[in-house]
Amino acid sequence: MTIWKHGNYAFKEPSFQDGDTVEDGNYCQLQPNTEICKNIKNIIINGGNFVNVKPQSAWTINGGNWVQKEFCTHQHPNFINRGLTPCAENCSHRQGENKQWVDIDEKEYIQIKEEELKANTLVSSVKIEKTVDLNEITQQKFQKEIYIYEDIVIKKGSSVKKALLSAQITESN
Ligand SMILES: [Zn+2]
Repeated sequence: MTIWKHGNYAFKEPSFQDGDTVEDGNYCQLQPNTEICKNIKNIIINGGNFVNVKPQSAWTINGGNWVQKEFCTHQHPNFINRGLTPCAENCSHRQGENKQWVDIDEKEYIQIKEEELKANTLVSSVKIEKTVDLNEITQQKFQKEIYIYEDIVIKKGSSVKKALLSAQITESN
């Protein structure tokens, strides 16, 4: 009987066993309604990050974050390595036509700049911001202009919990 208090098990299957209690920790999954630990029936969940984990009616859920959301890879480029399909530029997560400047590293700046030079792009989507600090040292920041994207929340945590509670009540009837 393990008490899970911390640890990062995001995007993988935690090794919960029957009789365990979860107090905290990260169990976030890439896609909404992902099933984890299908064969575990007897666990108590009091807290933790369960974003995109499908709550099972056999579990006793007293807390935790159960939001179900569609992640946008423009917001989370590192999730592509985890297996999330890269979004198109005009994906459903895009918030209109407005753009914003975000920081990038020098390597990405050079790469984009080279591609733009090759393509003879008229308006660059990257820039260098120079600032002079108190010691008269010039700092430079690399930025690119991108559309604004947001993850789509499919279900808020409270509604997921409510649905689960009603499922538990129905089952026990
Ligand atoms: Zn997207």
